[in-house]
Amino acid sequence: MKLSARVGQVTPSMTLAIAAKAKALKNSGVDVCSFTTGEPDFATPDFIVAAAKKALDEGKTKYGPAAGEPQLREAIAHKLQTENGLCYGAENVIVTNGGKQSLFNLMLALIEPGDEVIIPTPYWLSYPEMVTIAGGKSVLVPTSQENDYKITPAQLRQAITPQTKLFVLNSPANPTGMVYSPDEIRALAAVVVEANIDVVSDEIYEKLLYDGAKHLSMGAVSPEVFERTITSNGFAKGYAMTGWRVGYLAGPVDLIKAVSAIQSHSTSNVCTFAQYGAIAALSGDQTAIEVMRQAFAERRQYMLDALKAIPGLTCSKPDGAFYIFPDIQQTGLKSLDFCSALLEDYQVAAIPGIAFGADDNVRLSYATDMETIKKGMDRLDKFVRSRI
Ligand code: PLP
Repeated sequence: MKLSARVGQVTPSMTLAIAAKAKALKNSGVDVCSFTTGEPDFATPDFIVAAAKKALDEGKTKYGPAAGEPQLREAIAHKLQTENGLCYGAENVIVTNGGKQSLFNLMLALIEPGDEVIIPTPYWLSYPEMVTIAGGKSVLVPTSQENDYKITPAQLRQAITPQTKLFVLNSPANPTGMVYSPDEIRALAAVVVEANIDVVSDEIYEKLLYDGAKHLSMGAVSPEVFERTITSNGFAKGYAMTGWRVGYLAGPVDLIKAVSAIQSHSTSNVCTFAQYGAIAALSGDQTAIEVMRQAFAERRQYMLDALKAIPGLTCSKPDGAFYIFPDIQQTGLKSLDFCSALLEDYQVAAIPGIAFGADDNVRLSYATDMETIKKGMDRLDKFVRSRI
């Protein structure tokens, strides 16, 4: 069968493939310490599960509006107004199958062939693939450890051309865990306004902040920035709801209508009763969310301290998400070789940085239990010492 040229340019998710290999080894009885996971290891809080069960009992099992249950769109708009300082109404919000579909639909709605999309590198691996599928061109801007893997206003300015359509900002970031400070967000926003480009702010990790880090939504900087900003978010990471597939996109009404039209011909509405779980997530007691955040904070500290004691690895201090992104250059290995040898010789699974456009790093996730972290870091220490 002759496949489309479009599909020939798309690479399957490398993170999923490596995580699957680690899982297969584990299932065959090998004692693997996996730092590959991109989802909280906690169960979804009970009150959210109860709300979805109640919705099922009440017969909320039918098709709904493609853009989402009105009550959930209202609740999201309210959250964005009160928590993020973004003046969205329900008509500015579409509920999507995870943050992934919100970004995918956005690219389809916004990008023309030849449009350039600026993506700071290291990046979440789906961004460039989505741009490719939409027919656009990714402009990858390498960042450095010296700048904590954050794009600078000068770098952003330099990457802008007459073809630039969109800038993708992700804070807190996957894979680096970096959080742009409010001042850094404001400085980037100034460039966005000056160049009159659009920006999508992917805020899916906003609830996972440590050591007093503050999250500022790009669109909250000023009315001029708000006009050019699209906000993407979801329930997966902060509420431990990865399998529920509930995310959202917020932006100008004409864009949301266009995204809604696209979605109405692809997936239609997000699973109806899952949306009732999301309503509960926003309106319920947030204690369970804070308990998870505190557990992540403790693991992050352990992993950072352990990394500091390993000669040959360096890393910036990540203040968000659940990832650490050490630099492995001193081992003389590139990321794929590093991860293969680490898995084969020491049974520790990590994601090679090349999946995120950074071949001198690996991504370690601490969304796993403390025992695995302690054992895995011990093995990582031995592995690196054997290589330098
Ligand atoms: N954005 C980033 C940076 C992510 O890391 C992920 C998931 O890994 C997503 C968006 C999409 O999340 P979901 O589709 O599970 O809501």
